[in-house]
Amino acid sequence: MPRKRQPKPEAVQPKKVLVITAHPDDSEFGAAGTVALWSSQGWEVNYVVCTNGDKGSQDPKMTPKKLAKIREKEQRCAADVLGVKEVVFLGYGDGELEESRDFLRNVVRLIRRFRPDIVVTQDPYRRNAAHRDHRITGRVVLDAIFPYARDRLHFYELLRDEGLEPHKVREVYLTGAEDPDTFIDISPTWERKIAAIKCHHSQVGGRDEHFPQFMRQNAETLGKEKGIPLAEAFRRLEMRV
Ligand SMILES: [Zn+2]
Repeated sequence: MPRKRQPKPEAVQPKKVLVITAHPDDSEFGAAGTVALWSSQGWEVNYVVCTNGDKGSQDPKMTPKKLAKIREKEQRCAADVLGVKEVVFLGYGDGELEESRDFLRNVVRLIRRFRPDIVVTQDPYRRNAAHRDHRITGRVVLDAIFPYARDRLHFYELLRDEGLEPHKVREVYLTGAEDPDTFIDISPTWERKIAAIKCHHSQVGGRDEHFPQFMRQNAETLGKEKGIPLAEAFRRLEMRV
């Protein structure tokens, strides 16, 4: 009798992902393992970094201008490690984000240009202390997804002058969520996550020795309940609207 063939697992269609965060390094801390996993599956991942991170230093010799340059380089290094295709820097000053039409339009433009299935961004609903830029980024990105990028007459100039058709994002993954509901096993990409974070030398340079262990404990704690060795955790929204 011929042996019964195991049914093949359903092939996952490659998806397009846009990660939109406030500062260089936010996406690495929140989602680098998942980004590396997705890009290794052939998914296209692009980054949008909203500020230039030009205030993130306690070095008395550092200037905002110098730091912005360094952080752009560091972010490109991390993106290369993770297989990210393109990094767009919106260039707002660190700590200077506002919920403005200008910021919203820029995010809508990029959602319509990259046309992602999934957007990863920062949870704006944390009750505990959160960086103001993270809060504002999360709120503006969620607004940009619905209704502004989806409905054709919002920011009509994008359609009229730049030919950017409306786009509907299907899923959102929020990083830094206090009530995560989606846990991704990042054990296969753990080393790449750490390597990508190490690219941000201006931020983690002084912590090189201890932070991988600390990060590992965090990832173990996140995955523990789900039986996942090393996890990244998100709150996932399905955009039904
Ligand atoms: Zn940040």
